[in-house]
Amino acid sequence: MLADRALANVTFYPFWLDRPDAPAPQAPLVGRTEADLLIVGGGFTGLWAAILAKEAEPSKDVVLIEAENIACGASGRPGAIVSTSVMHGLHNAVRVFPEDIAMLEALGQANIAGFLDTLDRHAIDCDAEWNGELTVAVGKENLPTLNEEYELHARHGHDVVLMNAEETRGQLASPLFEGSLWAKKNSGTLHPARLAWGLKRAALSLGVRIHEHTPLRDISDEGSTVVAATRDGKVRARKVLLATNAFAAGHDHIKRRVAMVRDRILMTEPLTPEQMDRIGWRNRQGVYDTRTQLNYMRLTKDNRILFGGRLGYFYGGPRDPRLDRTPAPYKRLAEAFFRTFPQLDDIGFTHAWSGPIALTTRMAVHFQTYHRGKVVYAGGYSGFGVSASRFGADIGLAKLNGATRPELECDFARTMPGIIPPEPFRYIGARTTMYALDTADSKGGWRNLWLKFVGKLGFPLS
Ligand SMILES: Cc1cc2nc3c(=O)[nH]c(=O)nc-3n(C[C@H](O)[C@H](O)[C@H](O)COP(=O)(O)OP(=O)(O)OC[C@H]3O[C@@H](n4cnc5c(N)ncnc54)[C@H](O)[C@@H]3O)c2cc1C
Repeated sequence: MLADRALANVTFYPFWLDRPDAPAPQAPLVGRTEADLLIVGGGFTGLWAAILAKEAEPSKDVVLIEAENIACGASGRPGAIVSTSVMHGLHNAVRVFPEDIAMLEALGQANIAGFLDTLDRHAIDCDAEWNGELTVAVGKENLPTLNEEYELHARHGHDVVLMNAEETRGQLASPLFEGSLWAKKNSGTLHPARLAWGLKRAALSLGVRIHEHTPLRDISDEGSTVVAATRDGKVRARKVLLATNAFAAGHDHIKRRVAMVRDRILMTEPLTPEQMDRIGWRNRQGVYDTRTQLNYMRLTKDNRILFGGRLGYFYGGPRDPRLDRTPAPYKRLAEAFFRTFPQLDDIGFTHAWSGPIALTTRMAVHFQTYHRGKVVYAGGYSGFGVSASRFGADIGLAKLNGATRPELECDFARTMPGIIPPEPFRYIGARTTMYALDTADSKGGWRNLWLKFVGKLGFPLS
C-alpha cells in the first residue's frame, strides 16, 4: 500500500538525465574520416580516454563515436557513490589480485588525484561532496563481515572508523542498521550526468571530434589500420578503444566474459528540513550495505534520497531500457526503502530507472585485445566504475600504445576474467541466482547450494 502510493506519480526515466541543461548532441558521423585513435562509447570510460589521450599528445587526432547520446548507458544512471578503489573495493581486490594489491592501492590513490585534478582544471562542477562512504551491516549476522572489512582497511592504512548500532543510527537513522564502517578519505557522491557532460565539454575543448547517434556496426582489420563501419559512415583508425562496457560492442567475443544485468534505482522527492531531521544524515555519506543483494543510498544536492539495488536480467542483455519499466521490481525496491526508513512514510518517488551493469567473474574492469593489438576493450566494472572508469581508460590506452609501465605486467592488466556460459544457460542461471538471492535467507536449502556453486564459477555471492 505504502509503496503503491509512493510510486503513484513516478516517471520511468533517470533523474540525472532529466535536466533542461542537457547539452545538445554532436552531429552524427556521415561519410568517411580518419583518426589516430577511435574511441567507441560515450560513457565515462570513453570520455576519460578521449581526454587522457589528447592531454598526453595534443596533436593526436581523436574521434569518439557514441551510439545514442553521451551518458545514455551506465554513466547517466548510477548511484554515483565514488570510491578510491579501482577494483570494486579493497575486499574484491584482495580476493582477485592478492599479488597486485600494493600496486592497486597506489594506482587507486593516483587515479582519484588525477580525477580531482581534471575536475579542477576544466572547471567541471558535478555537485561532488567528499564525505566518505558508509558500509552498514543490515542485521546482526552481518557484523562479522563488517569487522573483517574494518581490519582489512586498517591493515592497508585506510582512514576508517568502526561504529556500533547507536553510533551508526546517529549518522543515519534506520532500525535495520546494526553497525557501520565509515571510510572517510577521497570518497563521496556526485552528479553523474553533470560529470559526463563536463567531461564532454572538456574533450571538445581539447579538440576531440565527438559524433553522437553514430552506432558502430563492424570493425575490419586492414593491416596497419582498422576500418570501423558506422550507421552512416566509416572511420579508418590506427587504434581503437572499445569503451562499450556492458553493451560489449566491437567484437563478438567480448560477451563471452561480460554479462549485462540491470540494476534499478528510485529517487524520492526533495525531503523537507523536518523530514531530514527524522533521518539525521548530516554527514551526507554515500551508503552501501553488506548484503550480496545489497541496497545503496545517498542524498542529492537538493536532499532527495537515491535508493538503489534490485538486479534484473533480460534474455540476451538487450540495450533498450524501455523494457524495464514494469512497476513490479520497483515496488519491491520501494518496500525495501520503507523497511530502511519507516519514519519517511509520507515521502513519494519522482523517478525510477534501471541501468546496464557489466558483470564479470572478477567484478572489476579488465582488458581484451583484438586485431593484433590495434583494438582494446576496457570494461566490466560490475557496478563500481564512476571513478574506476578513468583508471580503465588509462590502462586501456597504455595497452593500445604498447607502453612499458610496471602495472601492465600485473595480473589485473594481463589476464582476463572467466568465461560466462552463453544463452540460454546465461538467462536460466541469472534468473535462478536472482531468485535464490531473494529467498536464501528465509528459505535456505538448495538456494544456498546454488549460490555456493555460482561462487565457485567466480561470482562472490555468499
Ligand atoms: C544502476 C547503476 C548503479 C551504479 N552505481 C554506481 C555507484 O554508485 N558507484 C560506482 O562507482 N559505479 C556505479 N555504477 C557503475 C558505473 O555507472 C559504470 O561502471 C560506469 O558508468 C561505466 O562507464 P562506461 O563508460 O564504461 O560504460 P557506459 O556508461 O555504459 O558507456 C558505454 C557506452 O557505449 C555506447 N555503445 C554501446 N554500443 C555501441 C556501439 N555499437 N557504437 C557506439 N557506441 C556504443 C553506449 O551507448 C554507452 O553510452 C552503477 C551502474 C548502474 C547501472
